[in-house]
Amino acid sequence: MKALIKDNPVRGATFTDRPIPQIGDNDLLVRVKAAAICGTDIHIYQWNEYAASRIKLPLLFGHEYAAEVVEVGKNVANFKKGDRVAAETHVPCSHCYQCTTGLQHVCQDMKILGVHMDGAFSEYSILPAVCAWKLDSSISYEIGSTMEPFGIGVHALSKTKPAGKKVIIFGCGPIGIYAQMVAKLSGAEYVIGVDVTTERLDLARKMGTDIVLNAKKVDVVEEVNKITKGFGTDIVVEITGNKGVLNDATKTLRRGGDIVLVGLFSGPVEWDLVNNVIYKEANVYGVTGRIMWDTWWSAQSMLLSGKMDVSPVITHRFDLKDYDRAFQLAESASTGKIIFNI
Ligand SMILES: [Zn+2]
Ligand SMILES: [Zn+2]
Repeated sequence: MKALIKDNPVRGATFTDRPIPQIGDNDLLVRVKAAAICGTDIHIYQWNEYAASRIKLPLLFGHEYAAEVVEVGKNVANFKKGDRVAAETHVPCSHCYQCTTGLQHVCQDMKILGVHMDGAFSEYSILPAVCAWKLDSSISYEIGSTMEPFGIGVHALSKTKPAGKKVIIFGCGPIGIYAQMVAKLSGAEYVIGVDVTTERLDLARKMGTDIVLNAKKVDVVEEVNKITKGFGTDIVVEITGNKGVLNDATKTLRRGGDIVLVGLFSGPVEWDLVNNVIYKEANVYGVTGRIMWDTWWSAQSMLLSGKMDVSPVITHRFDLKDYDRAFQLAESASTGKIIFNI
């Protein structure tokens, strides 16, 4: 099969032939149809510190995908050949405290597809059955491949009650835009999206975000103060993972408001807790991945409701062999989702 492999500890990847993998008793062998590029894949492609400290080479990377089941492990009862599936990328151990109390997504011994084990920038992939989500027949493989990042947006907003609230979301990459769409669908009074690239702010506005702010051009704290007439926002969602953003993000929050932290910072962060959290009695939530399968049910319902069309968030499509161009574009941080049709 054709596969995109990270085999050298330098920038780049190798597009090559590989044998179709052998599944275990609890796995599915799937024919990959669409796979999306995620920030983690960019780290792996660039081979920065984040990748070097986590990844054993060689690795078949890529983890956000949708596929068709072609073979079923002998212990797997609930899937059959021909099923259409999307992948939950957090692979739980199924035995630890978290896994046995409904918190599989924060499993103590969690593995991640395409990071700790081979992923899906390839024609075939092994999907542990515990991570397979049956795609509704009306959801395309392309949209299926984005349900994982879409789910992060759904999970982030699920910590709060956005109806009738002023919501600000820092970051207008795909997850940020998904979160903004979820906040709108959930009845927010208005949603403010913040980013530093015009392309992403334009996309956010196109997808229904009420107000977009370019943090390179305006003082966001001042601007939000004007927009909310000094009231502040009720809900802040931080998706940039940019250390410089966090204090300003919380300065926009009203006292007693909610802040949801989603973006991954590249190390410890200096945060004025006294003024931004304690005196404000802010509710702080950390969010990672998606609740299995609560978030997936909600995500599917939102997609099936007919009230939101996430397809324009996919802005570019490539063949797997054109991976270099796809990754260079992804590095620009000015696009929506980039998909490989495989
Ligand atoms: Zn990802
Ligand atoms: Zn576990």
